[in-house]
Amino acid sequence: MENPIYSVVIPVYNEEESISESYKRLSDVMKQTNEAYELVFINDGSKDNSLEIMREFAAADSSVVILNFSRNFGHQNAITAGMEYARGDAVLIIDADLQDPPEVMLLMIAKYKEGYDVVYGKREKREGETFFKLATAKIFYRVLKNMTSVDIPVDTGDFRLISRAVRDAMKNLPEKNRYVRGLVSWVGFKQTSVEYVRAERFAGETKYPFKKMLKLALDGITSFSYKPLRLATGVGFFFSFLSFAYLAIVIIQRLFFSYTTEWGWASIVAIILFTQGVLLMLLGIAGEYIGRIYEEVKDRPNYIVAEVISNRDKL
Ligand code: UDP
Ligand code: MG
Repeated sequence: MENPIYSVVIPVYNEEESISESYKRLSDVMKQTNEAYELVFINDGSKDNSLEIMREFAAADSSVVILNFSRNFGHQNAITAGMEYARGDAVLIIDADLQDPPEVMLLMIAKYKEGYDVVYGKREKREGETFFKLATAKIFYRVLKNMTSVDIPVDTGDFRLISRAVRDAMKNLPEKNRYVRGLVSWVGFKQTSVEYVRAERFAGETKYPFKKMLKLALDGITSFSYKPLRLATGVGFFFSFLSFAYLAIVIIQRLFFSYTTEWGWASIVAIILFTQGVLLMLLGIAGEYIGRIYEEVKDRPNYIVAEVISNRDKL
């Protein structure tokens, strides 16, 4: 079978309630393009029935390919695998929970045909999300923008279209702890956006608990900015300066005015606790970077595909 024109990459983690509807809507939309397409589902170690349900799609539909991970490697690694595997001229990345409306892909394809290499979906509005998620996401995207010289657009997830040229360029970025949307910005090319309203989840719960959100945020910042390290240096210099100045005052008081202990215990405890706290925090910042260097050096693969399920070459 010839290579398809479009590859749709769909990361799946415990989506048994959404995946059938998702498959149906994605197929409906892609058929409207009147061009060959493939749907690349990545089963990211689901513990529910997602894989069994998807096997049925693959058995009946030769445009379906499933990459079955050996365990859960996380959303960013799942879309990386899908992009690397995709055979199409253009790759579309979309969530399995229908929060990104499949119909928007047609707008992305139209822009791609105008000659853009990257068309990312910009969330004009997000429905059915908690206040906490909305607020933290909003702050995070702006903090990151402020910290880095790479132009990573705000309020933009991984829902996007990328051309084969961008896909190939990204294959040369083997880094671990990936922040894919940042990497897409980093490679450049002709980029544009389409605005859309991010819908509520079709069914089920978010697969991004706070822990995963925090990891993604830290990966984004550490992958694209040294500023936290510079901040650590700055804070260090600032407190050293204050300390030396106060040290001078204490020595002068002791030598020439012979009093030093009026304030005693409370002030010493306060100073110790405060400086120790700041010090540990700065150590933690350095640690975040060192841990990531460690993972780069070990150079383990970002994911392991246990099985590729498809009957496209059998037909
Ligand atoms: N996902 C994944 N691996 C994970 C977590 C999530 O492949 O470890 C998938 C999930 O099935 C969905 C997409 O990534 O298709 C986005 O996850 P989710 O919708 O839970 O995130 P949210 O929209 O709440 O930020
Ligand atoms: Mg979602």
